[in-house]
Amino acid sequence: MRGVLILWLRNDLRLHDHPALQHAVERCRRDGLALLPVAWHGPSAPVETRWGFERAGPHRQAFRQQALAGLARGLQALSSGLVVLVGASPQPLADLARRVGAVALVGEALHAPEEQAEAAALRARGLAVDLVEQGGQFDAAQLPWAPEAVPHVFTAFRQGVDRLGLQPAAPLPVPAALPPWPETMPPPPLPALVEALPLGATDERSSFPYGLPTWRGDEAAALTHLQRYLRGGLPHTYKTTRNALTGRDFASHWSPWLACGALSVRRVVAELKAFEAERGASDGSYWLWFELLWREHFRWMLRRHGAALFRPQGLLPSASRVAHDAEAFACWCEGRTGLDLVDAGMRELRHTGYLSNRLRQIVASALIHECRGDWRAGAAWFEHCLLDFDVHSNQGNWAYIAGVGTDPRGGRHFNLDKQVREYDADGSYRRRWLGDGV
Ligand SMILES: Cc1cc2nc3c(=O)[nH]c(=O)nc-3n(C[C@H](O)[C@H](O)[C@H](O)COP(=O)(O)OP(=O)(O)OC[C@H]3O[C@@H](n4cnc5c(N)ncnc54)[C@H](O)[C@@H]3O)c2cc1C
Repeated sequence: MRGVLILWLRNDLRLHDHPALQHAVERCRRDGLALLPVAWHGPSAPVETRWGFERAGPHRQAFRQQALAGLARGLQALSSGLVVLVGASPQPLADLARRVGAVALVGEALHAPEEQAEAAALRARGLAVDLVEQGGQFDAAQLPWAPEAVPHVFTAFRQGVDRLGLQPAAPLPVPAALPPWPETMPPPPLPALVEALPLGATDERSSFPYGLPTWRGDEAAALTHLQRYLRGGLPHTYKTTRNALTGRDFASHWSPWLACGALSVRRVVAELKAFEAERGASDGSYWLWFELLWREHFRWMLRRHGAALFRPQGLLPSASRVAHDAEAFACWCEGRTGLDLVDAGMRELRHTGYLSNRLRQIVASALIHECRGDWRAGAAWFEHCLLDFDVHSNQGNWAYIAGVGTDPRGGRHFNLDKQVREYDADGSYRRRWLGDGV
């Protein structure tokens, strides 16, 4: 009987450009092993936070479920399958590995503290865990800095990348065939997973209506959306539209698929470069790449600083207490602060799981400065709500605005009157979410 290798799928729920998958396929071929793909990611489990709500709210759970169903279908088309484990504990995965006699687990390396603890817990149970770097644009070997010396300030990072002309490696194709499914395992329960799919938001006001087929969390929808965005020439207008508050095309809307790994950032960059080669580069196409580099920078910052980014004082040297008015925080979460633009944004976020970058900045600043809330509680609420929750970008942006992260100006306080004048002077956004009384 063949031995078994487990492909441990954490955040990257796709078949294209998946280095851990490729590594697992090669090892199975070399050693004559069967392959058992298993999806488990503890922080995606609906566990209660210290702030009194679940970590993964209904939008993200539904979106991840859609991504998992797409992945299960893709694996089935390659005569394989997918086991999905839920919950925060690594024990079920360890038990499964023992039951099938797995020789090792191969998965995606994740440098956030809880994800590192997950891998450590499996190793502590005597399992061999082999982690592969992926999820970002660059490998550590490509960078001119060691991971612990990547510059804090984004501009220095970008200039270093520019100076060397760094490019991500070419994305990997979907494997043409997969190693066999383990003989001792029953066939995977694909129909149950697909039939249980929640519909998701189809509200016509939503900027990301993931209940509609073309906005679902799966890899096929992600790749179709990427092509639609590029074929429509939208990178060229991105720089002028990116600060809009609402709509389907003002920005790329790639983030939810990047976050659940249905879309690879290396594939996005490769397609963006191909777009520029065919239709010319512009300020807009450059700016999209620039924003993707912010994503990259936040990944390296979490890798560099780890748990320090989750402390009240963040990267600042001295310990400090952070003010937190629990009642005001509850009003902020529910969109009842009395600040119309903030309330409209918070209602959109809660109702749909998506919010424009401009509004994320505005509502984050309002929680910290107007509502005197702990920035970590705000980050946790975003984690609960956002379809595109990504620990690196979320923690990094929150710390940045709170002035405890990598902002060389020491944080941001947005003037709400000015934001209203510049971005919602006619009140249409506020009316959309608060009604005609505005
Ligand atoms: C307080 C706060 C919390 C945030 N939390 C998250 C999060 O959990 N997950 C997440 O993906 N983004 C987060 N962002 C960043 C940004 O708001 C979203 O990436 C962006 O709005 C997603 O929409 P889009 O794909 O249309 O972006 P576009 O404007 O089209 O940008 C293209 C891509 O660039 C990247 N990008 C753009 N802006 C940023 C940024 N400021 N930081 C990092 N990457 C960026 C994203 O991958 C995005 O998909 C947060 C921003 C703030 C201010």
